[in-house]
Amino acid sequence: MEKTQEIIKSTDLISDLRYQISNQIGAKSLLACIQCGVCSSSCTVSEYIDLQPHRVVACLLLGLKDKILNSNAIWYCSLCHRCTERCPKNVDYSFILALLRNMAVKEGHIPPEYEITINSLLEHGFTVPYAGMLKKSIDRNREKFNLPEIVTPNLEEIEFIVKETGLKKILEDAKKGKKKEVKT
Ligand code: SF4
Ligand code: SF4
Repeated sequence: MEKTQEIIKSTDLISDLRYQISNQIGAKSLLACIQCGVCSSSCTVSEYIDLQPHRVVACLLLGLKDKILNSNAIWYCSLCHRCTERCPKNVDYSFILALLRNMAVKEGHIPPEYEITINSLLEHGFTVPYAGMLKKSIDRNREKFNLPEIVTPNLEEIEFIVKETGLKKILEDAKKGKKKEVKT
């Protein structure tokens, strides 16, 4: 089948995108990329992502923000750090990817799984369900292994943190339908 060529308009480019990321603490290394592709050949999830690590970096340097935020690459990364360890130019790609996740969420690209996790944290203080039968089973097993009881987190403190970091507003906006599509 003939491959269709993607046409990118100059108006789609965000000229300072590279600086929006590289100016953040720990991300300056982005500008050193030589597009060797070592990160992509090392990536443990490369077969599942629609944009390989070196291409994400290229898109960042070119200013193709939508292409990155609409890619599943930022969510499928397992943060194994192999790309970072092997990069000949010390580009901290796995850290940069974490910054891209933050950017995506702030702009309303929230994967449903993450939304469920945050709501669980707000409601119960745990990112995984710890209630009902599951709680009973966990408690029983902990007792069997002489492990201390799980202390119920302070929900008010969690709510304070979620509010202060702006996450609460992001979730409220998402509920009001301001959420964007996320490819996962
Ligand atoms: S390994 Fe490093 S220098 Fe090579 S393409 Fe990836 S980020 Fe760029
Ligand atoms: S940290 Fe993410 S992008 Fe880097 S090699 Fe691991 S899975 Fe791939």
